[in-house]
Amino acid sequence: MQMLNEINNVVIAPHFNLSEFACPCCRRIMLHPLLLEKLEKLRKIIERPIHITSGYRCPKYNHQVGGILNSYHCIGLAADIKVKDINLIELLGRAEEIDFAGIGYYEKKNFLHLDVRPTKRTRWRE
Ligand SMILES: [Zn+2]
Ligand SMILES: [Zn+2]
Repeated sequence: MQMLNEINNVVIAPHFNLSEFACPCCRRIMLHPLLLEKLEKLRKIIERPIHITSGYRCPKYNHQVGGILNSYHCIGLAADIKVKDINLIELLGRAEEIDFAGIGYYEKKNFLHLDVRPTKRTRWRE
């Protein structure tokens, strides 16, 4: 059915569509509004498109990609992002300005993990 291709095709912020955050295997989705709000803020200050490489993950998909058990991706609190034409260190600095609760810096794979976990601020790098 043609209209199934439209599932999650909903504009949810000036620069984001719900489908960008959906699980790639089943298109299920959970998304916390605070995560979206902070990503939109980041988008505005960097003035470049943010590519969501991983948003919501169902438990099966999270396992497939080697995500940790109870990953914040599985409850709609996390997104991994890539941005073209910006140094990853600079992107990290901008993400710090927005004060995401969790920030993972993945130097080799060239992406940031950002989350809005309710517990204390956490930073790590790989
Ligand atoms: Zn899935
Ligand atoms: Zn992540």
